[in-house]
Amino acid sequence: MSREHLTKLGITLPEFPVTSVGSFPKPSYLKKAREDYSAQRIDQEALEREEERATQFWIEWQDQAGVDVLVDGEMYRGDMVTFFAETMRGFEIGGLIRSNGNRYYHKPIITSAVEWVQPITIEWFRFAQSLTEKPVKGMLTGPYTVMDWSFNEHYENRRDTTIGLAKEIRKEVEALVEAGCRIIQIDEPAISVRPEEMPLAVEAMQICTEGLDAYFISHVCVGSFDQIYPQLLELPVHNLDLELSNPDVDIMPLLQANVPQKDISCGLVDVHSREVESQDEVDARLSKALEIIPQDRIWVDPDCGLKTRTVEEAQAKLEVVVAAAHARRESPSE
Ligand SMILES: [Zn+2]
Repeated sequence: MSREHLTKLGITLPEFPVTSVGSFPKPSYLKKAREDYSAQRIDQEALEREEERATQFWIEWQDQAGVDVLVDGEMYRGDMVTFFAETMRGFEIGGLIRSNGNRYYHKPIITSAVEWVQPITIEWFRFAQSLTEKPVKGMLTGPYTVMDWSFNEHYENRRDTTIGLAKEIRKEVEALVEAGCRIIQIDEPAISVRPEEMPLAVEAMQICTEGLDAYFISHVCVGSFDQIYPQLLELPVHNLDLELSNPDVDIMPLLQANVPQKDISCGLVDVHSREVESQDEVDARLSKALEIIPQDRIWVDPDCGLKTRTVEEAQAKLEVVVAAAHARRESPSE
């Protein structure tokens, strides 16, 4: 695996490192605080206190649950594009748009040249990392996805928009590295919708990551996976985070036909169902992955962000992934 690269960065991980894709459900006190803030019943400082409380809750929970590479859970984010658009120059926040399923988000509008003016995630990274000895992942939304999920009224075309964003998002990546973050995930969930734009997404990711001292991961949702694979392997990251448990798409035959030479974070639980998989079920999925991907290149995690589950469901789903990984470490030859 890129274990050598991780070692150079000062990070030692066990076999089958356990992580998660990024978002966790917000505890009820934080949901209430967000409502109170929207209704102007509490001020921003009061909201931030609850966001910190929830972040601390999730960091401590992951730590004791046996997760190896932690996430801050995105307690302070509404959705993954608007959050960045709110902090970068060049955007206005538009009306509510329906995204996949029954989720709504405020679609940002690009009205002038996009510009990184201040750190976006750094304070949260520092806060989360201060609470644990284990590595906390930096979590960013990739330039291609920010482009695809925004309206563009400024740039000539999709390509110019994406490249413009990539140059600015790189500044946030640099700031994360500067803050001591060594594992950085840059998500491109939109990448699987327009296969003809894969080269653009690859070029943009290159701009974000080139020459920087970190281990990069990218999460991609399944979409039309058959159209973007094996092209997807060209994404310049060390680790691709894939949904292996999505009941609608079986990507295993594609991986079999073109075995990835990257590390793969294997999604071992379905985030869309409330039902918590048994350890046997999860282990069977891991066995399937092991038939194709060498053991030392496998990370394990849930399929996607867990924010749509309840706190209890999210914990139970992650616990079963931890249990399966730990069982494998104890009997690696099985
Ligand atoms: Zn996903």
